[in-house]
Amino acid sequence: MSNYRIDTNCIHAGYQPGNGDPRVLPIVQSTTYTYETAKNMGQLFDLEASGFFYTRLANPTLDAVEQKIAAMEGGVGALVTSSGQAASLIAVLNICRAGGHVVCSSAIYGGTFNLFYKTMKEMGIDFTFISPDSTEEQIHQVFQENTRCVFAETLTNPSLVVTDLEVFSKAAHAHGVPLIVDNTFPTPINCRPFEFGVDIVIHSTTKYMDGHAVQVGGVVVDSGNFDWSNGKFPELTEPDESYHGVVYTERFGKAAYIVKARTHLMRDLGAQAAPQNAFLLNLGLETLALRMERHCSNALAVATYLQQHPKIAWVNYPGLESSKYYSLAKKYMPNGTCGVVSFGVKGGREAAVTFMEALKLASIVTHVADLRTCVLHPASTTHRQLNDQQLKDAGVSPDLIRFSVGIENPQDILDDLEQALQTV
Ligand SMILES: *Cc1c(COP(=O)(O)O)cnc(C)c1O
Repeated sequence: MSNYRIDTNCIHAGYQPGNGDPRVLPIVQSTTYTYETAKNMGQLFDLEASGFFYTRLANPTLDAVEQKIAAMEGGVGALVTSSGQAASLIAVLNICRAGGHVVCSSAIYGGTFNLFYKTMKEMGIDFTFISPDSTEEQIHQVFQENTRCVFAETLTNPSLVVTDLEVFSKAAHAHGVPLIVDNTFPTPINCRPFEFGVDIVIHSTTKYMDGHAVQVGGVVVDSGNFDWSNGKFPELTEPDESYHGVVYTERFGKAAYIVKARTHLMRDLGAQAAPQNAFLLNLGLETLALRMERHCSNALAVATYLQQHPKIAWVNYPGLESSKYYSLAKKYMPNGTCGVVSFGVKGGREAAVTFMEALKLASIVTHVADLRTCVLHPASTTHRQLNDQQLKDAGVSPDLIRFSVGIENPQDILDDLEQALQTV
């Protein structure tokens, strides 16, 4: 499948039915798989043979979706998880034990920040947060002897910062560690991080990849490009006693990282996706290329319209030439960024609420990045406990509206914005 272009892979990669097989990827709703002999099964347990034996570790429906996403990103393998949160946890924990340290961009999704700053810190992993606009020199300064990876987001939720992937990957590689990025917002349709030196990609598949808001899920994808043998990653280069001393880099070569994520962490943490959810995710992936095109053209129309509107104070969209991140967006996402636009309505917090409640087509939800246009005013919802100064400190201005542009007719979205703006 790798010879096809990405929009063809969206539809066909991962599942090629044989003679008389179902045309559509089947949901294998079975926890377990039968074998003729104990020896057959024992070889699976010892990682000497590949095959399915328990759905916590692998399942044919999940496997097909994993192969599809790996093909779309251009990686050697993928692991689907129960959520984006689980993907971030597994991606880091796979190569960073207690006592380790992670260099992390401060512009990341709030849930990822909580996971790192609270839960993983309590597990004994230390994080240093740096500006996403850091130069290579500034990134070099925060490395420690125990640093095991660098983590960033390609296009950040909700601040829409474009991270300079080449700067981050060069800095990481100079210190012998991989760069992991969360590529949720652009999706592989708009950005292929492995082409810019990124080693591991994660996604919340809950967002555009699914696109219909019907399942929560995540995925970890391995480029296969990182050389783990520099002595910093004993978990990959030294025997794993729980598998009779297997050495992942020796047995699995370029796929060492992703095999270990499955056989070690998925085995122990049990954050696997449900087959039904993988099936729904696959349906979403089939139309992803088409949907992203429309999300981006609609969002650009919305951003352009808002930018010239007298009742709008400011607009943030990396696809606008006025954006600080326009040139980085053009470099890393030449065909478009994503469907999310943020802006401020003149009149601050109160005007923002009046405006949002007047919208008819756009619904008020905490979710982003699906085919229905939706809107959120953080200051009156997710961040409502904070006063104006505290909001500023958190990087959320009181008038900020996060507008997730769907794939409806663009004129209907613009009409909805216009009638709502007339109320403020
Ligand atoms: C939503 C989101 C996550 C978390 O994913 P869940 O599927 O909600 O667990 C991680 N990263 C980004 C960029 C997100 O938008």
